[in-house]
Amino acid sequence: ESIDLKDPSLLQTKAFIAGNWQDADSGATFEVRNPATGGALAQVPQMGAAETRRAIEAANAAWGAWRAQTAKARGAILRKWYELMLANADDLAAIMTAEQGKPLAEAKGEIQYAASFLEWFGEEGKRVYGDTIPSPAADRRLVVVKEPIGVCAAITPWNFPAAMITRKAGPALAAGCPMVVKPAEATPLSALALALLAERAGVPAGIFSVVTGDPKAIGAEMTSNALVRKLSFTGSTGVGRLLMSQSAPTIKKLSLELGGNAPFIVFDDADLDAAVVGAIASKYRNSGQTCVCANRIYVHEKVYDAFAEKLRAAVAQQLKVGRGTEPGVTLGPLINEAALLKVEAHIADALSKGAQVVTGGKRHALGHHFFEPTILTGVTSSMMVAKEETFGPVAPLFKFGSDDEVVRMANDTEFGLAAYFYSRDIGRVWRVAEALEYGMVGINTGLISNEVAPFGGVKQSGLGREGSHYGIDEYVVVKYLCMGI
Ligand code: ADP
Repeated sequence: ESIDLKDPSLLQTKAFIAGNWQDADSGATFEVRNPATGGALAQVPQMGAAETRRAIEAANAAWGAWRAQTAKARGAILRKWYELMLANADDLAAIMTAEQGKPLAEAKGEIQYAASFLEWFGEEGKRVYGDTIPSPAADRRLVVVKEPIGVCAAITPWNFPAAMITRKAGPALAAGCPMVVKPAEATPLSALALALLAERAGVPAGIFSVVTGDPKAIGAEMTSNALVRKLSFTGSTGVGRLLMSQSAPTIKKLSLELGGNAPFIVFDDADLDAAVVGAIASKYRNSGQTCVCANRIYVHEKVYDAFAEKLRAAVAQQLKVGRGTEPGVTLGPLINEAALLKVEAHIADALSKGAQVVTGGKRHALGHHFFEPTILTGVTSSMMVAKEETFGPVAPLFKFGSDDEVVRMANDTEFGLAAYFYSRDIGRVWRVAEALEYGMVGINTGLISNEVAPFGGVKQSGLGREGSHYGIDEYVVVKYLCMGI
């Protein structure tokens, strides 16, 4: 299956290590498929530990010259990379839609979002300020400087094939660190296109490498290699836990963006129409496959029926399932068969315990990996949808009576990434915002992510923050200089 591109050279099918486009040592490849059709898009190298080690060693060798450049010079290269992403946005979106499935308009939105991290951090690199500390001793001067941590590794997921890479590479490179990335198996083509643009932007050889292939072998090398000082991972909590334990022997600094189980609360004083707009955006974006998607929708009993009806009408009017390349489509396919099976299991479990289907509830007539946008009512805390991230287009509506009750239910999870609520009462807004045990809270909005704000979770949703001035701290270490005079 071919992808129609203005610049066909963006479709790279070799890995990018130390500034060279390479095959696996063994010559082995794996197939990238279009989730909307099942068609084969490309074969990319099935690499393992040896290739990863070479990428890490090349990064370490290139590090000294990169950190010696001024932040302004690094920023100029990141700016160029950003501009190339925007100039090639149509092609990058076409590649993303082909391998990931999201509608073209959403893919283009992700390219803008992804590029914004390169622009932002290219600037922010100039502001990695240190401190001077008044000394307790008259004959000493105390100075704090911040230095790049060193070689960084990144392991990224398929749901945001471009943005999860630039959100890590932007701050790493801006701070003066090289980075080796392992993209998800489902979406390596977006990562390789980014590598090509990095090369064209003037990122030096070895400073940004993309290794495709076996997650276990590549992950084992990235975590055990002592040259790697920092690992940044976005993905499931299970794999995050594994990588954290594998990183223990070499005491790596970690950033982990793991699973969520976002509550979305509609209080009885909410603007219901605004809450519906927010719920549609937060729940069905990327077909429900984001870690900040509303997973549990709690609606006050006084407005439950009215909200359910408004949401049903909005889903019927606004959502269109289909191939991402078709105009007007808002819901692409899910990523793979396993994703469909999980969604089906969550719905079957809910129905067996008394929930009802308002709309959807089954695979879409289009076949492949398409699923109907679904709303369930009569959902309770004993159901799987309350405990696990569904990662699909299913909106389960829970009923609640009091603020205390809903805050308790919202916090009753090991996750703590994003939460949302709708209320117009200023006192309630503060009380609930403070009571929610989450790293990010959307208040009267369903969309919270941007490059200038800190993205990240508490509890088992992870460690560290990405985006914003906090995001660059993850890639620097503090050095204290004590000078006798
Ligand atoms: P998802 O359920 O979203 O696919 P995963 O956590 O499985 O989430 O995948 C996120 C990333 O982690 C992908 O790049 C995947 O290849 C990688 N990954 C999965 N298992 C491992 C592992 N054992 N070691 C290193 N990386 C892994």
